[in-house]
Amino acid sequence: MKSKKVLIVEDNDLNRKLFENLIGQYWSYKSAINGIEAINLLNQETFDLILMDIQMPKMDGITALKKIRQLELSNSPVVAVSAYAEEFDKAEFLQMGFNDFLTKPIRTKRFLEILKIYLETGLEEISISDEIEVPNVLLDQNVVSQLMKYNSKETVKKVLNDFALELTKLVEKYHKVINSKNTSELAEIFHTLKGNSGTIGANSIYLIAIDLESFTKKKEWPEVEKLFSKLEKEKKLFENFIKEATIFEL
Ligand code: MN
Repeated sequence: MKSKKVLIVEDNDLNRKLFENLIGQYWSYKSAINGIEAINLLNQETFDLILMDIQMPKMDGITALKKIRQLELSNSPVVAVSAYAEEFDKAEFLQMGFNDFLTKPIRTKRFLEILKIYLETGLEEISISDEIEVPNVLLDQNVVSQLMKYNSKETVKKVLNDFALELTKLVEKYHKVINSKNTSELAEIFHTLKGNSGTIGANSIYLIAIDLESFTKKKEWPEVEKLFSKLEKEKKLFENFIKEATIFEL
């Protein structure tokens, strides 16, 4: 069963770990943290599918795809992975030459479905609606139970704890940067936060992070500061919630 091999290209540690965990259950894989690393790996070996994040430092996913096709490093399908309703829509990704498009935060079932289609049957493009409903709750039980279904309880526990640690770091970083009003640095903080909270189903934080990123890009600082104090309250609630950890007894 593990004859097929996937190349995971993703700079976000938490997402990459989750992808590796899920993919590793069915197929073999290697990982790269940017386009340059991906190209180096493709020079050495072949992969049956490439999962390509779009926003990455050093070389982004769009540039990497161009190089892969230009240099004929691989003919395998390349699936773009990007935040929902951001940057480009699906049609634009297909036009750029991606074979398909997965939205972040990824949902386990849909993620595996897409991968199975490319790896097991070789069918091209399918069109399942990718609308994501996000109920405003501290931790989305649907997301957690999906994670639990495909990962061990220990892994999920670790992922949630890692997220809480990361959140603390991001809050510290925000306080260091906010006075400088460095738009790109702040937007990056919120972009990471948005990705990570979405992945684990920390919905109330995720919803705030979406607004934080967009108000930062618009340089609406009073809004940003207001939202940020809201975020800090949600952070405390989240930390207490995972400490009580009844979700792990499910
Ligand atoms: Mn990224």
